[in-house]
Amino acid sequence: MALSDYTGRAVLTAVDLINSHDVMTGTDTLTSGVEATELLRRRGWVVDRPLSAANLQRLRGLRPRLRFVFGNPAARKSVEDLNRLLHELQAQPQLTDHDGAWHWHYARPKAPLAERVATTCAIALLTVIADGDTSRLKVCEGTDCANVFVDASRPGSRRFCDSKGCGNRAHVSAYRERKKQAT
Ligand SMILES: [Zn+2]
Ligand SMILES: [Zn+2]
Repeated sequence: MALSDYTGRAVLTAVDLINSHDVMTGTDTLTSGVEATELLRRRGWVVDRPLSAANLQRLRGLRPRLRFVFGNPAARKSVEDLNRLLHELQAQPQLTDHDGAWHWHYARPKAPLAERVATTCAIALLTVIADGDTSRLKVCEGTDCANVFVDASRPGSRRFCDSKGCGNRAHVSAYRERKKQAT
């Protein structure tokens, strides 16, 4: 899969947003405007001040709608949901060169930041689906993990996220299991 830098960053923004709520433990790391600002800046968003409470709420509410697309082979349902989200947000694609290079803006003009993030993430995920790469939007198979990730490996055979060492843990327990059976 070949994601353009822009699509890649937007997809990874979606991944980070979704994973900020650990659905296995209930731990939420997106509870303040400062945390949201840091998350977005790490993915290249220009955020000049901590997110407002309203923007934070919008981002938190976006997570389940984006999570649904991962680990879901039914592309049609994901497409319907993301298209509906774009419709609700009144997305309005425009090409712009305000920063010197032509690029797309998807939100309506003057939309609040969370809305720009939402439209951009939705378009990026739809682009992955349109490229025939739905199956690369995955949910980690680690026992205690439901993190989502994008499998950009050539064979597309990754099974684990890499932020929590899930692959390593699975290797260790498979090794222990084999040893137990051998003795
Ligand atoms: Zn721009
Ligand atoms: Zn994991």
